[in-house]
Amino acid sequence: MELKTIKKIGVLTSGGDAPGMNAAIRAAVRAGFYYNLDMYGIYRGYEGMIQNDIKKLDSRNITHVLERGGTFLKSARSEEFRTPEGRKKAYANLKAHGIDALIVIGGDGSLTGAHLFYQEYGIPAIGLPGTIDNDLSGTDSTIGFDTACNTAIEAIDKIRDTATSHDRLFFVEVMGRDAGFIAVNAGIGSAAAAILIPENKTPIESLIEKLKSRTKAMKTSNIVIVAEGGKSGSAQEIADKVKKFLPYYDIKVTILGHLQRGGAPTSFDRLLASKLGVAAVEGLMQGKYDVMAGLINHKVVFTPIVKAIVDDKKVDEDDLRVANILST
Ligand code: ATP
Repeated sequence: MELKTIKKIGVLTSGGDAPGMNAAIRAAVRAGFYYNLDMYGIYRGYEGMIQNDIKKLDSRNITHVLERGGTFLKSARSEEFRTPEGRKKAYANLKAHGIDALIVIGGDGSLTGAHLFYQEYGIPAIGLPGTIDNDLSGTDSTIGFDTACNTAIEAIDKIRDTATSHDRLFFVEVMGRDAGFIAVNAGIGSAAAAILIPENKTPIESLIEKLKSRTKAMKTSNIVIVAEGGKSGSAQEIADKVKKFLPYYDIKVTILGHLQRGGAPTSFDRLLASKLGVAAVEGLMQGKYDVMAGLINHKVVFTPIVKAIVDDKKVDEDDLRVANILST
């Protein structure tokens, strides 16, 4: 592959925001300055690329952003970028600014867009896994996942206090439409009675049996973690079914929702985002295009975007086994 001389890099965040995106932007921009490159912020993801919402960044733009949740570049979902016409406009704007490479921070959709754009226009692009869902291959953890798990656990700990005080059964819905990573991590970390994830369909009968056996074992509070969009139904739907079989339980449902996206990134996410931000700039300079930078066993690894988005990252079977042992 031809090694292009890169002078101007555009950075954008796209899709759902995730804690640590700011830290990743900051690291990429700082690394760019270190290597005497011009760094551009593309605001509101691909939408801003199409609407020419692009500004040259200086060091003031990245002061005190590392510790903040969200993304100061803002994020968006862009329907227009899915069309060839939209991408053509985006390319014209990049050309007008002289931007010759891209760092795209986002989830699988955002990285798919980066791949397509590289295929069509040859603009070198590196993706960074920025999503709380942890559903990208080529990295042990995505930026924001650790913070989201910590936020969920902190919230569930509080729910546990009220559940114990009233002998209640709580169904807590966490994020993760197609992937149960947050549910499993937060479920083990909060001593959940059961964890229902999109990857598995848990028969209602086995859940009820488990709750009954826990009653016999004098477990006074029960928290069931439900990943949103699971095959077994929403937390409310499952709670309604369980109520019919266990009418003596005082059942409550809590949906953690968007609070899982917010907040200051954990030290883990700050380190991950910082390493990957630097890796993105260095990777582009070394001619690594159309790849996602990730961290595997603490080492930076570049994986072709097509592989990172297509490979079906699975919840660790051993985590599920441990969760089962600990909740029995
Ligand atoms: P999250 O995991 O938080 O949902 P995501 O990056 O997967 O993040 P998406 O909404 O799937 O979020 O994608 C973000 C944006 O990426 C889309 O709004 C669109 O602009 C672009 N995109 C996604 N898929 C494609 C595609 N197939 N072709 C072109 N652009 C795409």
